[in-house]
Amino acid sequence: MNEIFLMKLGEVVLKGANKRQFENKLRQNVRRRMKPFGNFDVYIMQSTVYVEPEDEEADVEGAWEACRSIFGVVSLCRCRPCEKNLDAIYNAVEAYLGEDLDCARSFKVESKRSDKQFPLTSIAISQEIGGRLAEAHPDCLVDVHHPEYTVYVEIRDLAAYVHGPAEPGAGGLPTGVGGRAMCLLSGGIDSPVAAYMMAKRGMEIESIHFFSYPYTSQLAKDKVLELARLVTRYSGRMTVNVVGFTEIQEAIRDNCPEEFFTLIMRRFMMEIAQRIAKQDGCGALITGENLGQVASQTMEAMTVTGAVVDIPVFMPLVGMDKEEIVTIARRIGTLETSILPYEDCCTVFTPKHPKTKPTLGQVLHAESRLDRESLIARALENVEKITVRYQDEPGL
Ligand code: ATP
Ligand code: MG
Repeated sequence: MNEIFLMKLGEVVLKGANKRQFENKLRQNVRRRMKPFGNFDVYIMQSTVYVEPEDEEADVEGAWEACRSIFGVVSLCRCRPCEKNLDAIYNAVEAYLGEDLDCARSFKVESKRSDKQFPLTSIAISQEIGGRLAEAHPDCLVDVHHPEYTVYVEIRDLAAYVHGPAEPGAGGLPTGVGGRAMCLLSGGIDSPVAAYMMAKRGMEIESIHFFSYPYTSQLAKDKVLELARLVTRYSGRMTVNVVGFTEIQEAIRDNCPEEFFTLIMRRFMMEIAQRIAKQDGCGALITGENLGQVASQTMEAMTVTGAVVDIPVFMPLVGMDKEEIVTIARRIGTLETSILPYEDCCTVFTPKHPKTKPTLGQVLHAESRLDRESLIARALENVEKITVRYQDEPGL
């Protein structure tokens, strides 16, 4: 094959005894992510993942795009492998990177030799290849301090590899090493970013969405499924639990004081999410809450909503500014879908004057007329489980 991808492992290499487990997970993830693009050989050696197309049918461009969003990789590059001798290396650089050199005003060669049997030192390799390239590209000057372009030569165990500058990878930890969590996914800007951030820390993500038909429309539900699909570009395949919330919201509206509507509703969401989380092997919940953003996101409100769960609730956005969250949403590609104007069930019965500093006692009293247990049981009877993957057709 005349092109392969090399991906350098991130924090993974720092993990000592767990290193093997992390590498196995990453290899498994890369293999799974390459499947839609044809036959690729994926192996790890010397803290590097090798992704090698096995035949001409492989969709190399599609695979490359996918590799850029795999967590656990700090940097990645496309390379040309060649035999481990200077002539072969020089010819590979010319054929593979010659045009890039013609476009640059200055260059240098940087070599790394992890195969210590190779007779030349790294410096000698760089000098030799750099000298030949300088002759062949007289308009591109050697500049070892601030080159416009850098040619990399890596002498590894199996072969030599030449490539141009590497790109930053998706960072984080390989999906799966951090356990599994259930993200409460609304149609807003925040919760898809929260899911992405915890996936980046190596968590497998499942999500749950509450919808209140006919107060919220089919389009609002499709929007959430589309957001989930966009997150799976990073997290891998995801199950979305869609839970009908109409009966619960109507019961709250009819039986509870208005100032507590949102809080009581959120307590139902958390409790139902936790029940499904436990059934599905998720050890934590994730929300897009952000301190002070709305009345239900004060410390006191979080105490009241958190009181119904006994597993950790991860809120990766809790201390961020909206601007920072929007920047991430834009970068990961969820923003445009999030800002489509379909209503969320949170906005259906919004109190005019929500309580911002509730106590648990007040809220327990406010919801005391509800039969929580049977409302929750009925909601759990009709959970629709939908699997989404990035390769699916866009939903909106
Ligand atoms: P987002 O942009 O994620 O909707 P938000 O700022 O609008 O956040 P809220 O509407 O108060 O905040 O919701 C807080 C969190 O509660 C959300 O980030 C999400 O995790 C969860 N949540 C809200 N509505 C729903 C819903 N309909 N289904 C599932 N989870 C929800
Ligand atoms: Mg919202």
